[in-house]
Amino acid sequence: MSNRSSTDKKKGLPAPTNPTTASIKRPPRSEAEDAIKTLIGWAGDDASRDGLIETPKRVATAFEQWFRGYDQDPESILQKTFEEIEGYDEMITLQGIRFESHCEHHMAPIIGRAWVGYIPNGRVVGISKLARVVDVFAKRLQIQEKMTAQIANVIEEVLRPQGVAVVLKAEHHCMTTRGVMKPGTELVTSRMLGCFRDSAITRQEFLSMVD
Ligand SMILES: [Zn+2]
Repeated sequence: MSNRSSTDKKKGLPAPTNPTTASIKRPPRSEAEDAIKTLIGWAGDDASRDGLIETPKRVATAFEQWFRGYDQDPESILQKTFEEIEGYDEMITLQGIRFESHCEHHMAPIIGRAWVGYIPNGRVVGISKLARVVDVFAKRLQIQEKMTAQIANVIEEVLRPQGVAVVLKAEHHCMTTRGVMKPGTELVTSRMLGCFRDSAITRQEFLSMVD
């Protein structure tokens, strides 16, 4: 479960980035499994045949992994910072972070990569934490534009750096395997804050790392 509320009290953090999910009550697992049985029937198959009998259980377990981000708090991931950085104030970028998400319109996979950069303001965060923040937001139902903004905003709110830059490039399976059927297309989204927004040179330096 999220430790969001206790952390809030202790450290006086800003409001959760996604407050709407905090109050949502999960239905029991049996209801989720029944719903998957219904979907198997809707797809045109017999949910009671041998090969499918365990499928609702497996899908429910897969959901726990695909959507584990609802139980994780990105702010607390970024809380531990390092201040002994000898005045380091250049760009820090984690490149090409692979992520898997699901679109909130079709629940179809979104498979992509993220570039996350910031220019610190006296403290830095462990680099693995940047990848974990991407993961927390990816493991929810998403639209890519919102996910891009959420990653940038939480880094801005918690680290208070001189600037944050986030670029996401992803293939949306709702578009490549159905609908307009355009395999190989990627949606590119970006959010630039602080010095990345104000300075074209800084922004360009970051964007030159995106391939
Ligand atoms: Zn979609």
